Amino acid sequence: AFYDRSEELNPKTNSYITLNRENAMAAAKLSDEALSKGEVLSPLHGVPIAVKDNLTTTDAQTTSGSNILRGWVPQYDATVVSKLRKAGLPILGKTNLDEFAMGSSTEYSAFGPSRNPWDLSRIPGGSGGGSSSAVSGHLAPIAIGSDTGGSIRYPAAVTGSVGAKPTYGAVSRYGLVALASSLDQIGPVANNVLDTALLHDVIAGYDAHDSTSLPHSLGSMAEAVKNADVKGLRVGVVKQLNSDAFQPGVKELFDDTIAKLVAQGVEVIEVDCPSFEYAIAAYYLILPAEASSNLAKFDSVRFGLRVTPEGNPTIERVMAATREAGFGPEVKRRIILGTYALSSGYYDAYYGSAQKVRTLIQRDLAAAFSKVDVLLTPTAPTTAFKIGEKVNDPLAMYLNDIATIPANLAGIPGMSVPNGLAKEDGLPSGVQILAPAMQDAQMYRVGAIIE
Ligand code: GLN
Repeated sequence: AFYDRSEELNPKTNSYITLNRENAMAAAKLSDEALSKGEVLSPLHGVPIAVKDNLTTTDAQTTSGSNILRGWVPQYDATVVSKLRKAGLPILGKTNLDEFAMGSSTEYSAFGPSRNPWDLSRIPGGSGGGSSSAVSGHLAPIAIGSDTGGSIRYPAAVTGSVGAKPTYGAVSRYGLVALASSLDQIGPVANNVLDTALLHDVIAGYDAHDSTSLPHSLGSMAEAVKNADVKGLRVGVVKQLNSDAFQPGVKELFDDTIAKLVAQGVEVIEVDCPSFEYAIAAYYLILPAEASSNLAKFDSVRFGLRVTPEGNPTIERVMAATREAGFGPEVKRRIILGTYALSSGYYDAYYGSAQKVRTLIQRDLAAAFSKVDVLLTPTAPTTAFKIGEKVNDPLAMYLNDIATIPANLAGIPGMSVPNGLAKEDGLPSGVQILAPAMQDAQMYRVGAIIE
């Protein structure tokens, strides 16, 4: 049923780059067989899933939203994909994203923008707008995303879905097409907190293939959701992320969420994170620096596209022509920025300073978490904007990430939970929950309370 619905609605939402009926049906059949044998199964056994197209799959192309990888079928499955297969979840297809997960709207995808099921003229967020629109439009009950600066949480907020970025290292990044390796984390997207938690439990855990993988388990998120209560809970509201910079309807919903918690007896205090003011500036130096290095491997030799120019095709000219034709404008912009920031003589001024800001943000968060269990912020400054509104204004696009970026810079878990429809436009808004590193269960507990 989900597959048929996906095929019917995908022309409208453009959630998937690749739909794969044969694979989905074969996996569903295997899962039926396991059921009939009475095997002990994962709680999500047989539940179909959509997977962001920057995770490698041996049975479908993995494009990362880019022309340079169009048609590339990897030789290995990402660890997360192997875990999904092992747990009996049929993969319906691979979902759309901004090219190499750079963006907040999916408008930078080489496969055209995805559309928000709430209003098809609006963006479903990015970079994981394929996964968020699939879940929100019920083309898939659950999906996988990746979050480097908010690409799970922001799309979840503007489509009325739930999305979580686990603690850095909680989910293996093996087989994820790397954007910025020190910030990237894979995570779950779903229509409610319990489904999100159940999927989290399927994909989390140590993996020897990822050198930053956490060696120990962080426990069951589903258990945290099932046992959630407000007893003794202390919540912080970040002064710097509760300003008039947020759309009035978004701010009003956020204030309502806080008021409801207070009414339930939760202690709420304001916390100060002065370094958050510099988070976007630091992130947009660190990310391009790491991305420019990670993307150097797309050189026409090892993966995907090769363009051979006329005349004297030296290796340099083939590489240059391939990268010129294969990368879109946002990717080129970031490669140039990152290469500049890392160049000799500028390294300390740009990359070095940004890393210092990163430390200051971590200290602000540590100070805040010495007083409260979790922090709450609106996930996004506005509800979903119109397709085309910001695509030619990179800075306006970057500013959407104001609330989500600190979690990636600090490696802490963050999730977005829907908290109503904004009064101006009737579109969904989300509240973000941030918890200390490795306290993902605490974040889910609060998510369950707010939902
Ligand atoms: N909007 C952010 C960016 O463009 C989000 C990226 C991400 O999380 N993949 O970098």
